Amino acid sequence: MNCYVMTLFPEMIMSGLNTSITGRAIDNGLLNLEAVNIRDFTLDKHGKVDDYPYGGGAGMVMQAQPIFDCFQSIVDRIEGNYRCIYLTPQGKTFKQTLAKQYASEENLIFLCGHYEGVDERVLEEIVDEFVSLGDFVLTGGELPAMVMVDCISRLIPGVLHNDDSASTESFENGLLEYPQYSRPREWRGKEVPEILLSGDHAKVDAWRLQQSIERTKRLRPDLLDDWEE
Ligand code: SAM
Repeated sequence: MNCYVMTLFPEMIMSGLNTSITGRAIDNGLLNLEAVNIRDFTLDKHGKVDDYPYGGGAGMVMQAQPIFDCFQSIVDRIEGNYRCIYLTPQGKTFKQTLAKQYASEENLIFLCGHYEGVDERVLEEIVDEFVSLGDFVLTGGELPAMVMVDCISRLIPGVLHNDDSASTESFENGLLEYPQYSRPREWRGKEVPEILLSGDHAKVDAWRLQQSIERTKRLRPDLLDDWEE
């Protein structure tokens, strides 16, 4: 999978993702990640990429030309289909179901806004989907892009050491994951549930499902509306 992130702060993207599991996926060639600097495409002789908003108001708006040329430079050199995603608090909320859809794409292009946002006309030209991390406002789209690339990349076969771990995780079956325990068997007077030591896999699975249901009822009852047993 190829992920291209259009940003004014490419070092932020690479330093955040070129590490740990995503870093290993990049090293192993399972994920090709490029942070493309929008500023490299401005035609302004002073390197400017933003300007005052028409109609007045606070802040600066990222201009259309550098973003469009940056996007075009990416599209010109990729093969196959692509989706262009603008990270914005105005978009649909990013969820595991959307991550799964994106994980089957060949090429994803992310646009990170900054300042007051982006000139609407370039959004109309290039963006396929508007995606938000949640109902709050950040200073830029870089953190949401990093969150999305992290989440999507761990769904690519081979990225996790054990591909099972993605399929048993929260949201995969519409529920939150069951509680996990590791050694020691007793810690501060708290014992690991006996059933996990029984070696009976069917019983362990049944216990875990029950725990998942109870936990989801308690912490995220809204998820149960869509859950199919
Ligand atoms: N003026 C915009 C508005 O009111 O909708 C907010 C601009 S925000 C300060 C700057 C940039 O941060 C946005 O263009 C977007 O790329 C990014 N951003 C901020 N909050 C976000 C969120 N919740 N999800 C995704 N991107 C976000």
